[in-house]
Amino acid sequence: MSHNHNFLIVTYPLQGHINPALQFAKRLVTMGAHVTFTTTIYLHRRLINKPTIPNLSFAAFSDGYDDGYNSNAIVDLSTYMLELSSRGSEFLRNIILSAKHGNHPFTCLAYTLLLPWAANVARELQLPYALLWIQAATVFDIYYYYLHEHGDYITNKSKDATCNIELPGLSFSLKSRDLPSFLQASNIYTFILSSMKEQFRILDEETNPIVLVNTVDEFELESVRAIDDKIKMIPIGPLIPSAYLDGKDLTDTSFGGDVIRVDSEDYIEWLDSKDESSVVYVSFGSFSVLPKKQMEEFARALLDSGLNFLWVIREKKVDEKKEDDELSCKEELEKNVNGKIVKWCSQVEVLSHSSVGCFVTHCGWNSTTESLVSGVPMVAFPQWTDQSTNAKLIEDVWKCGVRMDNNRDEEGIVKADEIRRCLELVIGGGEKGEELKRNAEKWKSLGREAVKEGGSSDKNLKSFLHHIGSI
Ligand code: UDP
Repeated sequence: MSHNHNFLIVTYPLQGHINPALQFAKRLVTMGAHVTFTTTIYLHRRLINKPTIPNLSFAAFSDGYDDGYNSNAIVDLSTYMLELSSRGSEFLRNIILSAKHGNHPFTCLAYTLLLPWAANVARELQLPYALLWIQAATVFDIYYYYLHEHGDYITNKSKDATCNIELPGLSFSLKSRDLPSFLQASNIYTFILSSMKEQFRILDEETNPIVLVNTVDEFELESVRAIDDKIKMIPIGPLIPSAYLDGKDLTDTSFGGDVIRVDSEDYIEWLDSKDESSVVYVSFGSFSVLPKKQMEEFARALLDSGLNFLWVIREKKVDEKKEDDELSCKEELEKNVNGKIVKWCSQVEVLSHSSVGCFVTHCGWNSTTESLVSGVPMVAFPQWTDQSTNAKLIEDVWKCGVRMDNNRDEEGIVKADEIRRCLELVIGGGEKGEELKRNAEKWKSLGREAVKEGGSSDKNLKSFLHHIGSI
């Protein structure tokens, strides 16, 4: 690539934001760009296997919590976001100006969700910028409609669980439970919506705002185009390690950069010892913490099912330990020869392993796309934010999984029987399971084709670079 691209990337300090942003950085580098990847000092320190490839450098700023920010209190979180905004803006201003006065000015700033202040800094310094939307295009549409003329319509409909919510450009209707949790009637995270509003206000002010989306055109054909006349989305996903998509050697970490990876576990050997498509992989991402009662029901279901399972149970941080979290069947779980519990794993490696036949997931967008491009059918158990919309896509649009939260008891807990029923549907060898598997295989090949030379995402990324080069 002849143009001298020099990107600055900034991400919100969460694993689910950093992973795709880092993959985006690496793709840009392979296309001849120079990239400076920035996040908070705490997360920066936790990035292990930092790629030491030419043209990708790292810089970090203090959010005031260099030893880690950890609070579930909403008030604290909203204060934190303000702090992040003021410290982050100052950092970006300085780094952009010093590059400008040096001999290698930045040519574009890319930033992830919840950082509208990053766009403001870029505008102030007249630097082209792009939003890297790390959720589904469908979620983008829903927020767009909510924050524009359809706000009241969605709010009113979200109060009645049975209403169909029809949005222009989308042929599937939504129920209240399919909306991102921040738009459901019970939402208490109003400051997240304020941040989204600010984000959309900035995009609305641009003649041709650039929104890169971590999706694949073929996954979300309608959603990508639903608001085409207002904002053109550019699908460039799935932002998953290229080594994995290309089927290259995953032990080659020269292009690595995973966060908080535990290499010492022997789960890959364990998976090697299991039959093809026989293992249920269970993980609820890097953030969600399920109530102990719910974990007990999962344990019961997995043990009673007799199925092989690999279950990620993250270690809780000290101030997350509100209750004694030792499961009553801990001993039974440990002795169970069919199951393995790990604190963390390299999820893309696990999902691509031929023994894995089902993924019980909280439907984080990264987990969802990782599963799609691995051809693994899912049992969807969404918790909050965009996960319920992703679960809708999994069950009703892509038809490669079943949603499990249909039957809850009065405390909101899904019982072991219901969990087993879903597991058996997906991996029990019946007709439904076969259909889900066939569909999952279809998405796998479409997802992989998209990033190959000449595939839809590859072409989109190239024309984005061309566009930036022409500004
Ligand atoms: N992940 C992982 N190992 C685990 C659990 C999660 O590597 O044991 C990765 C997973 O592959 C994904 C990310 O953590 O890339 C989680 O992102 P997602 O959007 O699915 O959920 P979030 O953590 O943001 O809720």
